[in-house]
Amino acid sequence: MTALADHREIRELAAKVAAEMFEPLAAEMDLARTPVPAARRAVLGDLGFLGIALPERYGGSGAPLPQVLAVIEEFAKVCRPAAFQIFEANTGPAQVVNHLGTEEQRARWLPAIVRGEKTMAVAISEPDAGSAATDMRTRAERVGGGYIVDGVKRWISNGGEADQYLLYCRLSDAPGAKGIGAVVVEKGMPGLSFGPPERLMGFRGIPSADVILDGVRVPDENVVVPAGDFGKLFGVFSIERLGNSTMSLAIGQAALDATRAYVQQREQFGKPLVEFQTVQVTLADMLLQVESARLLVDRAAAGAGTGLPDPLHTSLAKCAANEMAKRVTDLAMQLHGGNGYTEEYGIERLHRDAHGWAIAGGTPTMQRIRIVSELLGRRFDQRR
Ligand SMILES: Cc1cc2nc3c(=O)[nH]c(=O)nc-3n(C[C@H](O)[C@H](O)[C@H](O)COP(=O)(O)OP(=O)(O)OC[C@H]3O[C@@H](n4cnc5c(N)ncnc54)[C@H](O)[C@@H]3O)c2cc1C
Repeated sequence: MTALADHREIRELAAKVAAEMFEPLAAEMDLARTPVPAARRAVLGDLGFLGIALPERYGGSGAPLPQVLAVIEEFAKVCRPAAFQIFEANTGPAQVVNHLGTEEQRARWLPAIVRGEKTMAVAISEPDAGSAATDMRTRAERVGGGYIVDGVKRWISNGGEADQYLLYCRLSDAPGAKGIGAVVVEKGMPGLSFGPPERLMGFRGIPSADVILDGVRVPDENVVVPAGDFGKLFGVFSIERLGNSTMSLAIGQAALDATRAYVQQREQFGKPLVEFQTVQVTLADMLLQVESARLLVDRAAAGAGTGLPDPLHTSLAKCAANEMAKRVTDLAMQLHGGNGYTEEYGIERLHRDAHGWAIAGGTPTMQRIRIVSELLGRRFDQRR
């Protein structure tokens, strides 16, 4: 079978599983703010969706990035909490372990993630270090055979729910980015606890909480990235940013698809809404924005293959897709009138989620700063 046929087939399978198994649960997960049950996640593992972009020797498929992004898109159109599971396993912290961890660490952590038995979240942000991630204060103090970690991480998606956390922290006294590395902390380690669940505008069904570290003892074998390799960490984080861009792309596409159907069916003044020229123009604008974002996401993903995406292409894709999803869902609400403002039609849920994905993974403003840095080949120090 050709790679193209493979790609189409897995997208179709993803759309079918998402529609049959997860779409019926999506509104309720949002209302109740409950995550995908472990048994359903295991099904995603059984079907191979949690290891598409992870190596075959750990149970994955070793497929290039566009393939997993197609799957994430199909799930995210109908159920973001389910898509999040696939996003986190394939484009999240597990990829840091895959690209930057030791062979022993990959063998220890990846197979259980691929099977859906365990999840790993990423903990970077802190109460006083969001966009300025390198201001982080969480510290790992050297003790014999390991480290003692203290600090607080904020806005951690899957916080409290995940079994493991890829924790960015200070592993040396070197200032700024130079002292930052990453370790894995595991649920059940003494001193690791979680704040109360956040009540977010969107992202419901994807738990969020503080991760609190109070003298957590982390053995040397859990150090994934030593101090000084922050640049490498952010290089791999580009994969997560493309997963994030795909979530936004899916949200925009879903809003467009729903609106396309609605304006042909809903009548006012004795004719379908689509017969009004401003409605036609709005629909065209929505398509234009979705397709433009899609091309940027596709270019970045195609360039990455099974490796790392180009940082400029990634930031362009994230910025475009995040902002597109916010605008297109807003237009979708407008064209749905009162129905768009009800929970029943799912449009307001798309709009709420669009805002979340645009903040997570670095705001569009921060992507723009990165875009100009890449364009001009120089760094813009935000502190001076
Ligand atoms: C739904 C959601 C999920 C998240 N999941 C995770 C997660 O799993 N793990 C994790 O570690 N973090 C996570 N985060 C945190 C996220 O990465 C941060 O919220 C984000 O980086 C922005 O940081 P902040 O909220 O502190 O905003 P701030 O950094 O305080 O920014 C506030 C505003 O100021 C702007 N701004 C900041 N600096 C500049 C500048 N130099 N120039 C111009 N404008 C600037 C920003 O663009 C933004 O508009 C999540 C956040 C959300 C909302």
